[in-house]
Amino acid sequence: MTFLELNGLRKHYHSVRAVSEVSLSAERGEFISLLGPSGCGKTTTLQMIAGFVEPSSGSIWLDGQPLTTVKPQNRGLGVVFQSYALFPHMTVAENVGFGLDMRKIREPERGRRVRDVLELVQLEQHRDRLPAQLSGGQQQRVALARALVIAPPLLLLDEPLSNLDAKLRAEMQLELRRIQRSFGTTTVMVTHDQDEAMALSDRIAVMDSGRIVQLGRPQDVYERPATAFVASFLGSTNLICGQLRLSAAGMQLVVSDRVALPCPDSTGRAGETAWFSIRPEKIRLVGDGSGETGHLKGKIVMRVFCGDRWIYELDTDVGRLVLRVQNQGHPADEGRTAGLTWNLGDMISVEGGHA
Ligand code: ATP
Repeated sequence: MTFLELNGLRKHYHSVRAVSEVSLSAERGEFISLLGPSGCGKTTTLQMIAGFVEPSSGSIWLDGQPLTTVKPQNRGLGVVFQSYALFPHMTVAENVGFGLDMRKIREPERGRRVRDVLELVQLEQHRDRLPAQLSGGQQQRVALARALVIAPPLLLLDEPLSNLDAKLRAEMQLELRRIQRSFGTTTVMVTHDQDEAMALSDRIAVMDSGRIVQLGRPQDVYERPATAFVASFLGSTNLICGQLRLSAAGMQLVVSDRVALPCPDSTGRAGETAWFSIRPEKIRLVGDGSGETGHLKGKIVMRVFCGDRWIYELDTDVGRLVLRVQNQGHPADEGRTAGLTWNLGDMISVEGGHA
């Protein structure tokens, strides 16, 4: 059943359309990420849910109740911003208890709730420290504890991990997911980091120019991107454009006078222009380009070692392609010519070519 519903939300600042039209339904306990490039309207959407920005039109519903006209302080939501905004002169326990004081929740319940939430974020032993005596990740957990202690029906996170270094960030992603699951709090998070969105979310709403362009489970959005924009924003990809032609052997994508690639039958009609996305990990190197050439021949112009895999860039007749190949100890040399192949099912038909 729908718990949070955004209905045709729009926000205009004079001629600037910050949010053109956003509609979204979330179920109770769901973790949804708003993912997109800078300026696509993520934060404005979150701020409208929080009540800090008034929509130009549209409505917000939470658990069947209209939220749009409720003042932010009366919405009772948990909000964590990029800067954690902890009170510097208060201890960890005081910071966390602050929201309970505002709600006039007294001892012994106050103490019990602070203790429980600090245990959950594993900071009980640091309860008497000041924020300045904590690491970035610990401060982030205090901010989360402070938002969760009031048991909000909805948790709003705006780039909550962006101040952390890469390693801590990866740890905190798992931590955040664990905490959100154990509380079962419906959560909307804003991020421009696709790995973070994939690691944390039940569903991702990919935004572009003030709209949601695709909404789905991380693996569905990754494996079945609807548009060239989504394909290249969520992970890296190879986009190939051409004209469809029906040959005796099946449908082909005619990329140029010299190149016609076999392509899935059901993608369109002969004569139409079509775009395909092929993920770097779906392309394989075969042979040395002289005998077996697969679908295309290419020259390796760059090779990068990434531990468990190699990234190759190849110049081909359809442009430069990127491959991600499992490291099996015998990398192909730069400058070498190689054949490239992939399964037809890994050519995903996408809309539009302006990635
Ligand atoms: P970022 O990742 O950079 O924070 P975002 O996707 O969160 O970007 P928003 O902050 O929602 O984007 O902004 C969307 C658009 O609306 C941008 O073009 C921004 O410049 C514009 N905008 C946001 N707030 C205002 C405002 N108060 N007045 C005028 N324009 C605004």
